[in-house]
Amino acid sequence: MKLRVWGSRGSLAAPGAHTVRYGGNTSCVEVRSGSGDVIVLDAGTGIRPLGVQMADEGVERIHILLTHLHLDHLQGLGFFRPLFRPEVTVHIWGPPSPVQPLTDRIGTYMSPPLFPVRLADIPSTVTFHDSPEEPVVIGDLTFRASLVTHNGPTVGYRIEENGRSVVYMPDHEPGLGVDLADQPADWISGYHLARGADVLLHDAQYGDEEYERHRGWGHSAIGHVVAFARKAEVERLVLFHHDPYHTDEDLEALVTEARKLWGVDERVCSAWEGMTIDLDDDAVSLATVPGSAPG
Ligand SMILES: [Zn+2]
Ligand SMILES: [Zn+2]
Repeated sequence: MKLRVWGSRGSLAAPGAHTVRYGGNTSCVEVRSGSGDVIVLDAGTGIRPLGVQMADEGVERIHILLTHLHLDHLQGLGFFRPLFRPEVTVHIWGPPSPVQPLTDRIGTYMSPPLFPVRLADIPSTVTFHDSPEEPVVIGDLTFRASLVTHNGPTVGYRIEENGRSVVYMPDHEPGLGVDLADQPADWISGYHLARGADVLLHDAQYGDEEYERHRGWGHSAIGHVVAFARKAEVERLVLFHHDPYHTDEDLEALVTEARKLWGVDERVCSAWEGMTIDLDDDAVSLATVPGSAPG
């Protein structure tokens, strides 16, 4: 399985001179199995350039897994080029809600006055599904979802192929109201999904001091992220969902802080636009430095 990060920012796109290294596009990660099955995690603004590539490649069967429907995870959907090709089939998975079906919630965004094209007028074949906790098989990939602590119905995803596993939790506040170090693991939001993963991409929106002003906003402090990753015994932690106010230098300070907290530098890095992660039988390799190849 191979991953490519197309957007690692959270909340709002943040292009500009101060975000060149880590990128300004909001959440979107491409996952491909060894035999070419395609899963897209979230439809933030990063899905636009991914869609250009997929249209050029002629990819005709795509699964999009949405963690939730906040705009930074949905806003790119209307600009995903494969949606406008009649020969393409797109399956969109998202968190179940007792209030409104997924189609209606996405239709709220993809309809006037917020968007000029109605969901019903999209030329491709689009099918909607609630993301289940039971495993779903897509070719050689298997995924499952689990509800996690955020504002509104939100899931995290675990994707596996050949015994390798990646967990994606871009918006998650497991430390809300609890001390993660003392809390029994079974009671921690997201623990069972993340446990023992080869790679965890996790919300790292705030420094510990910043978090004090944003408690309950649905995101993690850097101390929470490291405590969660250690508790879940993941192999590698990738900081994700960067705050739109954080510059490249701020993000480097956060990754330095996270490495200090964990005490093992090579297990922690920060997601950047263009980052690739390769998981195969022999090894897991991450391009940890912006602009580098996996190593
Ligand atoms: Zn978000
Ligand atoms: Zn959110």
